[in-house]
Amino acid sequence: DWVKEKAALFQAESVHWCEGSEDEFQALCDLMVQNGTAVRLNNTLRPGSLLVRTDPRDASDCSCFIAERTFLCTRRQEEAGPTNNWHDPLEMKARFHRLFDGVMRGRTLFVVPFALGPQGSSFERFGVQLTDSPYVAANLKILTRMGQSALESLGERDFVPCLHSIGYPLLPGEDDVPWPCDIDNFLLAHFPEERQVWSYGSGYGDNALLSRKSFGLRLAGAMARDEGWLAEHMLVLGLSNPQNRKIYVAAAFPPGCGKTNLAMLAPASAQWKVETISDHIVWLKFGIDERLHAVNPERGFCSALNGINEETNFHALRTVAKNTIFTNTAQTPGGDVWWEGLTSKPPAKLLDWQGQAWTPAEGKAGNAAAHPNARFTAPLTQCPVLDARWNDPNGVPLSALIFGARRGDTWPLAFEAFNWQHGVFLGSMMASEVAEEGTDEELCLHRDPFAARRFCGYHIADYFAHWLQLSRLTSASYLPRLFAVNFFRRENEEFLWPGYSENIRVLQWIFERVETQPEVHKSAAGLVPAPEDLRLARLDISPENSRQLFAVSPAEWRHEAHDLLDFYEIFGDRLPDELRDELENLMERLHPKLEMI
Ligand code: GDP
Ligand code: MN
Repeated sequence: DWVKEKAALFQAESVHWCEGSEDEFQALCDLMVQNGTAVRLNNTLRPGSLLVRTDPRDASDCSCFIAERTFLCTRRQEEAGPTNNWHDPLEMKARFHRLFDGVMRGRTLFVVPFALGPQGSSFERFGVQLTDSPYVAANLKILTRMGQSALESLGERDFVPCLHSIGYPLLPGEDDVPWPCDIDNFLLAHFPEERQVWSYGSGYGDNALLSRKSFGLRLAGAMARDEGWLAEHMLVLGLSNPQNRKIYVAAAFPPGCGKTNLAMLAPASAQWKVETISDHIVWLKFGIDERLHAVNPERGFCSALNGINEETNFHALRTVAKNTIFTNTAQTPGGDVWWEGLTSKPPAKLLDWQGQAWTPAEGKAGNAAAHPNARFTAPLTQCPVLDARWNDPNGVPLSALIFGARRGDTWPLAFEAFNWQHGVFLGSMMASEVAEEGTDEELCLHRDPFAARRFCGYHIADYFAHWLQLSRLTSASYLPRLFAVNFFRRENEEFLWPGYSENIRVLQWIFERVETQPEVHKSAAGLVPAPEDLRLARLDISPENSRQLFAVSPAEWRHEAHDLLDFYEIFGDRLPDELRDELENLMERLHPKLEMI
């Protein structure tokens, strides 16, 4: 009935119920090729794969313009909090109704039922996306458990209605364009109280693939608050030591801070092993063993390609060897894909991401062959280091959680929280240095608590409170230990830490802290390792730089504390007292004499 009602509103020419079969996937791909949306890649070099080129105006899901048009629609404005764009739900729906009226004339409405989380598990949740984009339907086939099976498991249970249109009706006699959209009128609205998401005007990325940030994080986050679990912007990996003892670790990093790289890490030290469960989202819930368990709600990757090569992320390259949808990469004359960083020299005669002949402009910015946000969509099962328990209905028990930052200073390479409450404090202060809008050079510090700032489906101060109270749901010894890392510390504009495959040394220290408790130094920031414990001797790092990597500078941390005090202001009274206490504790550790003044 719901589909019938919406199909009538959209005035779709036909309705296709997605069954999720391989034949149907191929038909969706053929349709994209016919429409000029996609080209098939060379079947020997890149079997079963497509290259899709979007409208150049609809190539990003993270520009300022898009963030301004993304809304959280709660009945009371206070519930959205200071970090979300609030809009009145009734008014927003009225706006959408005008946009949706007749929006699918001349087009097929795809009904895309999907499940998130392992089938039959207590984590499992359902959605149905209505969309007029075959690109969206094909991507959801890879990214979710999509089709008839989801519909059957769903049965009479609740599902999240996801309404989506590219906003480009085809009137009689009118020709289609390769990437129809109405990006100038883009709108994305979340209704957490009703558990719905509506999207108009864009066909790209998280604007249109509503199972991901919209459902998987924002709406799932609101469900998780009510039901006592967590939906987090985190990677999950299995970490095995040389004796094959294994722990599971999850890590929250802001966008562009190394999630995909760490999730698929090829360790520099061959005796250690990293296996992947997620590079993007994790749902966390206490198991009957009272430990926090993690699942990846998705069954595919949709991740950025920029900078991926044999050295930086060998396993991601293997993952995209076949059956992959590439979006906005460059194309080689031989019918393969290319992106900046894949090889040190670009191949000759490339077509750029808009399909135009490309010549590299020496030293000139803005002339990349691939879009900086070029992506791949590929099944998890193609990852050569996929963890055997990726689809375990009970999830995997977590031993450690990591909060990551991208900062030239202040945060040491790695440290551990004193306890859960202090760890939540560290999560709330997460930040990354991002280029100032419109400049290449100026970096400014962007606070991104728990990497959730843009993806939190309710008041983020309540979200901090939710994290704090989780520790009361189990005994302290069952809680994962909380750590913080920063692979991006700099001195004279140079990274101090080699990163990538060498990050195994940080994971190894975390493993050892969990298992054997090597000694640590108690600093104002937290518990800092001795450089020897990361076995730095075999790396080419000067003693001064290695000291700098672990330094907790009182001046930098005082600056941090003051900046954080300003940041906390925006939450007013709603900020949990525990976080204010932690900030005071930090200031006291930095100014031991303060109390006497
Ligand atoms: P995600 O968006 O969080 O998944 O981040 P990615 O894994 O895609 O990485 C973002 C960027 O950071 C890419 O350009 C990577 O090459 C780079 N990167 C990832 N890990 C490291 C690291 O350990 N050190 C340095 N210097 N760069 C890294
Ligand atoms: Mn990623």
